[in-house]
Amino acid sequence: MEAEEVVAKPPKGRFCTICNQRRAALKRPKTLEQICRECFYAVFEEEIHGVIVDNQLFKPGERVAIGASGGKDSTVLAYVLSELNRRHNYGLDLFLLSVDEGITGYRDDSLETVKRNEIQYGLPLKVVSYKDLYGWTMDEIVKLIGLKNNCTFCGVFRRQALDRGATLLKVDKLVTGHNADDIAETVLLNILRGDIARLSRCTSITTGEDGPIPRCKPFKYTYEKEIVMYAYFKRLDYFSTECIYSPNAYRGFAREFIKDLERIRPRAILDIIKSGEDFRISTSTKMPEQGNCERCGYISSQKWCKACVLLEGLNRGLPKLGIGRSRGANNELSKNAKEAKGIDSIQSKQCGTLDF
Ligand code: SF4
Repeated sequence: MEAEEVVAKPPKGRFCTICNQRRAALKRPKTLEQICRECFYAVFEEEIHGVIVDNQLFKPGERVAIGASGGKDSTVLAYVLSELNRRHNYGLDLFLLSVDEGITGYRDDSLETVKRNEIQYGLPLKVVSYKDLYGWTMDEIVKLIGLKNNCTFCGVFRRQALDRGATLLKVDKLVTGHNADDIAETVLLNILRGDIARLSRCTSITTGEDGPIPRCKPFKYTYEKEIVMYAYFKRLDYFSTECIYSPNAYRGFAREFIKDLERIRPRAILDIIKSGEDFRISTSTKMPEQGNCERCGYISSQKWCKACVLLEGLNRGLPKLGIGRSRGANNELSKNAKEAKGIDSIQSKQCGTLDF
């Protein structure tokens, strides 16, 4: 989303509806109020502070890693969290944590942005790579499997990579830049897919409290348009190119649908999140039980975690193992997979969904 499409200018000469002293410079996407830049910065930052305090996201003295991709969301998150940490004395030790998926022409460029952010915000940076962790880059995986299901590999590997990086940094929490639009989309997608397990947790502001490192989403109620506006007005240094392997299908439709709703009624995004929060899972619905992967020890509801299943397929030259239903030449593997009980199939999902 380009900043120019987002910044709606109020009629000339209007005063800011908050301070009533300065000229209004923008129409706030979330509330349609006409306000000045200074009041926009203040309400944007203080709403996030309110979310952090109300949900007790952090404790003084905690080490917190910010999942940093170089994109607008994580860049604004790193900037705002450093500001709030200073202003409100949270007492946090903040770090940047990036994942290098090995996507030439995309991640190498965006990592350069994160390296600049490291200096600009004075936050130590740790980069973990798929090549080091799994022995494969996404470029190599796409060469082998093509452009179908690539995001399944990438998303599953990223989730674990972030956890492994967070463990190396010895942090207490990991924060990600998922915004209100992302969460509303995920609510819709989980309903459309009938994915009850994910539906029940996708609106939680903190997840993984029973796992090694809890994850929080301080932007749970922050609109994407406001993040773009904030980054634009503050002239933050972020990377806005899309991944060269992005498929843009199912999630893209949900995203467009939400944008259409937002145009008619901005509150729609918050209302979808609220609906997701209010869903009650029937007690007769069978939920997966959490355990640990027998191979690598990572948290898993199956015998092997998804990353180990996918990696096994790649290393054996049978990359479809663990992806959807196997047919023909993959029947034997499908049988093996079934025998390995619990090695489940994974639907193709796009960037973003898998971080939840
Ligand atoms: Fe990975 Fe996202 Fe690119 Fe898919 S779109 S390959 S999940 S970075």
